[in-house]
Amino acid sequence: MIRLGVGLVALALLVSGPLAAMDLVRGGLAALTSHEIGHSLGLVAYGPPPHGAFADEKLAEFIANPGGSVGPHIDTAGQNLMQAGPGSGNLPPMSLGFLMSPWFFNELNLAYLQGRVVLLPKD
Ligand SMILES: [Zn+2]
Repeated sequence: MIRLGVGLVALALLVSGPLAAMDLVRGGLAALTSHEIGHSLGLVAYGPPPHGAFADEKLAEFIANPGGSVGPHIDTAGQNLMQAGPGSGNLPPMSLGFLMSPWFFNELNLAYLQGRVVLLPKD
């Protein structure tokens, strides 16, 4: 999902010092780990509820960037953890702004992880 660019860390070192660079690395690794754990727990299932959570959906109005909704991913508004990573597909490469933005699971993904939404098996 995320490739931590050595160049970005070097830029952070130059701009803000070693603590800011460590924050970038820590934040990127936390986002990457959360993303992969999300996959291991079933995020993001293909299709609409009650069988899926809109993985690979590109046309719905709640999709922020169709390029981030490829494969078992969904890209809704903001930096949600289950969007495809920067640099994958035709998405733009990693940027400092991307790394420094707050990350979260979108509402449907969070409800699934908290057991408030149960997806039914497909026939
Ligand atoms: Zn993924």
